[in-house]
Amino acid sequence: LIERFNKSLSKLSSTRKITEKQVNDVLREIRTALLEADVDYDVAKAFLKRVRERVLTEDLKKNISPTDSIVLTVYEELTNILGGEKADIKKGTVLFVGLQGTGKTTTIGKVAHFLKNQGFKVAVASTDVRRPAAMLQLEKLAERVGVPYYRFDETSPVSIAVKSKERALKEGMDYLLLDTAGRLHVDEELMQELKQIKEAVKPSEVLYVADAMQGQEALRVAKVFHETVPLTGVILTKMDGDARGGVALSVKSAIGVPIKFVGVGEKIEDLEVFYPDRIAQRILGLGDIQSLAEKAQQVIPEDEAQVLATKIMRGEFDLEDMLKQIRFIKSMGPLDKLLGMLPGIGAQLKNVKIDEKKFKKTEAIILSMTKEERKNPKIINMSRKVRIAKGSGTTVGDVNKVLKEYEEMKKAIKSMRGLLSGGSLPKFPF
Ligand code: GDP
Ligand code: MG
Repeated sequence: LIERFNKSLSKLSSTRKITEKQVNDVLREIRTALLEADVDYDVAKAFLKRVRERVLTEDLKKNISPTDSIVLTVYEELTNILGGEKADIKKGTVLFVGLQGTGKTTTIGKVAHFLKNQGFKVAVASTDVRRPAAMLQLEKLAERVGVPYYRFDETSPVSIAVKSKERALKEGMDYLLLDTAGRLHVDEELMQELKQIKEAVKPSEVLYVADAMQGQEALRVAKVFHETVPLTGVILTKMDGDARGGVALSVKSAIGVPIKFVGVGEKIEDLEVFYPDRIAQRILGLGDIQSLAEKAQQVIPEDEAQVLATKIMRGEFDLEDMLKQIRFIKSMGPLDKLLGMLPGIGAQLKNVKIDEKKFKKTEAIILSMTKEERKNPKIINMSRKVRIAKGSGTTVGDVNKVLKEYEEMKKAIKSMRGLLSGGSLPKFPF
């Protein structure tokens, strides 16, 4: 993805105007990214239509490239759609539904742990009568979390649900988390059973447990569940794996219920509140592009950023630019953090060692050079070095170090330029 973004980026480099064709080019890449993240085809199409209208009617964002501006708009729109209500769970009986193996039972353990930690009284019970092992699994989880597990000598899921609810009310529980049977595929019997349970206990929430690895299929399944027992929320599991989480966008757009939590592992602590911005980044396969844009907007004046970008694109980079870079970087805070935010190119620049404590010295040395020397460092011979060292209160060795750093930065920028024009790329963690 980054490779494609960078290609588009180089096409659009340093121009403030943007044509419809360019917008289409970038959006085509984004469509591919969405589909690769398992976003449903129709959902992706509808989403891009909205974004396209926004991009074509709104002004480009200031201080960043047109491509970044589009990407940010996409990101904002995606975050908006994914976000919304808070991740709270209404008190009462909470039904967990979904296909077998998506993580319902595990998630009940996690949610019980989460709610208990918030000081609520929680009990759990299982209506998965066909699989004794599944009931035992929940019983053990409850033990580990330290919440009561309600067991009944019953073979009817509906009776178990009803009796559990009565007991939870009697014992003054805030929450009763009810596990349900899953199937490998949606079937009528399972749906009827769920409907009966739902009518019998009138749940405060029906949470759909969706496996992020399920891919495009997850939406179709979610729709069938939603038609039978209207869902009130979604928990997306197995986000610790490779799945990019496109299911979140599909389900949220098509069904409209909030995504409440994300499962990120097999342990009871591995549950996170859903952050729309994080998933948006992951779906798009971006680094922390928003923070970067925000920071760039704060400290680099637009024109200077443009000039610098143009220079970098042309492979022109002199000591004057290095000075600006250093001041720019200094104003942005810790360097390693900043580099981590640059998608794709962060890894490249990481090899350039710039000790922040040395910034002051470097600045002094560059300031002691003449304009000509800064523009054309090649002319800096020994006698010039001695003069510069004297002027900046440093040594010739220090001057040499700065010149070497400059050469390294220039090299890094050259290879960056190679990347931007579609050269080989380092593997990107997303
Ligand atoms: P159920 O059939 O829907 O009740 O699914 P289970 O709760 O039994 O989970 C099925 C498998 O998925 C188990 O091996 C769980 O440990 C695993 N699992 C559940 N949630 C997660 C998660 O968030 N991350 C990972 N890596 N595994 C999970
Ligand atoms: Mg289960």
